[in-house]
Amino acid sequence: MKLILLGAPGAGKGTQAETISKELGIPTISTGNMLREAIQNQTPIGLEAKRFMDNGQLVPDDVIIGIVEERVARDDCRNGYILDGVPRTIAQAEALERFGVTIDNVVSIEIEDAVIEKRMSGRRVCGRCGASYHITANPPKTDGVCDSCGSELVIRKDDRPETVRERLEVYHRLTEPLKGFYEARGKLRIVNGNQPIETVHREILTALGKGV
Ligand code: AMP
Repeated sequence: MKLILLGAPGAGKGTQAETISKELGIPTISTGNMLREAIQNQTPIGLEAKRFMDNGQLVPDDVIIGIVEERVARDDCRNGYILDGVPRTIAQAEALERFGVTIDNVVSIEIEDAVIEKRMSGRRVCGRCGASYHITANPPKTDGVCDSCGSELVIRKDDRPETVRERLEVYHRLTEPLKGFYEARGKLRIVNGNQPIETVHREILTALGKGV
């Protein structure tokens, strides 16, 4: 199963990817998490990506295409994977096709911008493993501490309101056209993201033909 989760920043892609990944036993490939790790480790890619990310801009396609090509070739991707936050441009989607990646399903999690802006102010992420929480909709068991790895939860720098607005603009201009790209290939499914996490999860499974 090779699945793409599409959707605006804050639509719930990371949260849904985490559960589906456990259920289906396939890894999640989150370019956002990979880039944040690269920044933390101060690698050349991290240093280049940081200035784009801090301003809510996309990291250049050639950087993303390089890291994804290397990642999908690893052993743990043999039985499939979930792409979270990638592709984000038509050029990235075309690059995946060029490496011979055949996507089975694309689920677009849809939600209005105004709801997203409100949601993002409550988002907290694990500084170490990247797990995502929300202070009211999806709180950790202990305040400020990651359920998965016990590390401290932080507010992402690019979750500031002005950066969120920039990221939404970038989403509509550069990423949303991917819906047409995958619709033309008969892969696109739409799920309403403005519902409880469990409901969105069930609807995604149904869209994948794995509903109960
Ligand atoms: P995310 O965690 O997916 O919201 O990504 C955070 C930031 O990382 C984005 O705002 C971009 O600056 C960068 N980024 C992540 N994935 C991509 C991608 N596929 N293409 C370009 N930039 C990306």
